Amino acid sequence: MSCIFCDIVSGKLPAKKVYENDYVLAFHDVEPQAPVHVLVVCKEHIANVSEIEEEKYFLVQEIFKAINELAKTLNLKDGFRVVNNCGKKAGQTVDHVHFHVLAGRDFLWPPG
Ligand code: 5GP
Ligand code: ZN
Repeated sequence: MSCIFCDIVSGKLPAKKVYENDYVLAFHDVEPQAPVHVLVVCKEHIANVSEIEEEKYFLVQEIFKAINELAKTLNLKDGFRVVNNCGKKAGQTVDHVHFHVLAGRDFLWPPG
């Protein structure tokens, strides 16, 4: 199975990393939708949030720990948006759990 984010985690593909711990990795999105657009992924391959099993819920905690850290290191004091697209209809294009962290501009609500 080939997976772009697994390849980034393993170092096979390059990425501009901004945070890493044993469980998660954060890096800049290659096609940014805002002045700040970082992806936070779990290192383990899980296709989407619906596929996370109970014993792996701690990974979501690790992801939000990373987001909290990024809010400080990237100085996102004016606010930021966290987005998860789960499934094709929601716009998911990479089948590996990831959360988008977007900042540096205004965002619409509802998101459309
Ligand atoms: P999704 O559409 O699945 O919610 O988000 C996938 C995101 O991954 C998109 O924002 C897309 O720009 C980003 N992306 C796709 N391929 C790569 C890549 O090779 N490197 C990086 N850094 N981001 C990627
Ligand atoms: Zn993967």
